[in-house]
Amino acid sequence: MNTKTIISLLTIFLIALTYGQYNNIEANKNKIKETKASIDPICKMKVSNNSKDTVIYKKKVYVLCSSFCKEKFKKDPKKYLN
Ligand SMILES: [Zn+2]
Repeated sequence: MNTKTIISLLTIFLIALTYGQYNNIEANKNKIKETKASIDPICKMKVSNNSKDTVIYKKKVYVLCSSFCKEKFKKDPKKYLN
């Protein structure tokens, strides 16, 4: 094995390592994204916490997917919170 082969093998190894770490970062990002999402209590859909349709009920923030679900929730929150 000559020096050139060793260097190219090392380069491949480093690239693979970096790529693996990059994938881990991406996976973590997705995890964070997931924790920033809530479940709409009405339709059980995943909604981003950035949604403008939120209702505060008993000091807790509920995120709804649409104004339609929001109105439904506001009418009878207890019905949907179980
Ligand atoms: Zn909904």
